[in-house]
Amino acid sequence: MSLFENTLAQIRKASDLMGLSANAREVLSRHERILEVSVPVKMDDGTVRVFQGYRCQHNSLRGPYKGGIRFHPDVDLGEVKALSAWMTMKCAVVGIPLGGGKGGIIVDSKKLSPRELEAMTREYARAITPFIGPKMDIPAPDVYTNAQIMGWIADEYSKIKGENVLGVVTGKALAMGGSEGRDTATSMGGMHVLMEYLKERGVAPAGLRVAVQGFGNAGSFMAKFAQEAGMSVIAVSDSKNGVFCAGGLDIPTVMAGKAEKGEVALCTNAGIGGAACSVVSNVELLALDCDILVLSALENQVTQENAANVKARMILELANGPVTPEADEILKGMGVPVIPDILANAGGVTVSYFELVQNEANYYWSAEEVQAKLKPIMVKAWMDISANQKKYNCTYREAAFISALRRLADALKWRRGIE
Ligand code: GLU
Repeated sequence: MSLFENTLAQIRKASDLMGLSANAREVLSRHERILEVSVPVKMDDGTVRVFQGYRCQHNSLRGPYKGGIRFHPDVDLGEVKALSAWMTMKCAVVGIPLGGGKGGIIVDSKKLSPRELEAMTREYARAITPFIGPKMDIPAPDVYTNAQIMGWIADEYSKIKGENVLGVVTGKALAMGGSEGRDTATSMGGMHVLMEYLKERGVAPAGLRVAVQGFGNAGSFMAKFAQEAGMSVIAVSDSKNGVFCAGGLDIPTVMAGKAEKGEVALCTNAGIGGAACSVVSNVELLALDCDILVLSALENQVTQENAANVKARMILELANGPVTPEADEILKGMGVPVIPDILANAGGVTVSYFELVQNEANYYWSAEEVQAKLKPIMVKAWMDISANQKKYNCTYREAAFISALRRLADALKWRRGIE
C-alpha cells in the first residue's frame, strides 16, 4: 500500500468529523503538480548511473509550495506524495503562509563519493529549476540531506538564473543566507509543544523517562533539549541500533560518540556519570517502559503489528508519518495520546519560513529573535489543536487535521470561490 493512502485516510477521518465539503475534500486529496525527473551522473569509475528523482507539489492555496528533499533508497512516488501533502497540512497547522511540497531521489547517498553526491544534487537541481523559486516552491533539508546539499542547489539555481537567489531553498549554512536556529528548529518546536502538553496535564518534566528513536538532526537535538529540561533520556537509537541506560544517558556524550564512531550503539559508556549502557534494537526501543516515546526516524514505525507493545504513556512524532492509521486506532484504544507530526515537527518549517523572510528582506535576525518568534507560533498551534481535541472529542491528529483543513478550505473559498 502506498504511504499516500495513509494521508488520504487521515484527511477522510478529519473531514468526516468536521463536515468538510465534498469539493474541498476532492481538491485537497489531489496534487497540483507531480514531477518525475531522471538524474544522470558520471560516477568516479567512469560509468554512468541514472537516478530517479521526484518533486511533488501538493497544494499552494496558502502560499508557495514548501518542503524538504529526501535522499534515501526507499523513496518512492507514494512516499513523496504523502510527505508533500503532510507539508500542506503542517504549514496550515502553524498558520504560516506556505503550501506543501516534497522531493526525493532514490539513492543510498552514503555510498556516493563527495564528488558524486555534488554532481547528483546539481543535476537534480537543474531538472527541477523551472518549477522552483522563492515565490513558487522552496525546498529544504529532509532525511539524509543537509545545509551542504542546500548550498549546492541554491548555487546551481542562481547560476542558471544569473543572479543570487538564496531564497530558493532554506536550511542553508549561516555563511550563505541561512537562519540562526534552523538546525535546532524541529526539536525546539517539538519541545515547546511537549511542554504545553505537560503543562495542560499538570505534569512536571523533571524525571520523566524519554526514549528517542532516530538520532539525526531532529532526534539528537530533541534528546539534548529533553535532558536539559531535566528529563531522563533512557534510550536513543539510529538506523542500526540503540543504547539504553536505566539511569539516563548523557546526550552530549552520545552526540560526540556518534560523530566519532558513526553509531550510537558503540557509545556504551554514555550513561550519566560514565555509567555503562546496554545495546537495544529499534524494536526493543519502541516497546520500552517510559513516559515519552519520541519517534524521529522514518514513517511506518509503529504499526498494526507492534502498536500493542508500546508501553510509553505518550508519543511525540518528530518524524513524518511514524504511526500508521491502524496503529493510531490501537493506541487510541490503549489511551496513549499521540502528538502528531504536522504539529510536533512543524518548528522546522516555521524557521524555514523565517529564513525565507530574512532572505527576501536581506536582513538577518539574531538567534534570540528567532527563538522569540518561534515559541508563540508553536504555543498557539498547540492551543488551537488542544481546543479542537476537546471540542470534537477526537485524537490530537484528527484535531490537527481539522485545524489545517479548515484554513485550507477557507483559502479555497476566497481564492477560487469553491465551497
Ligand atoms: N523536511 C522538514 C519537514 O518535513 C522541513 C521542511 C522545510 O523546512 O521546508 O518538515
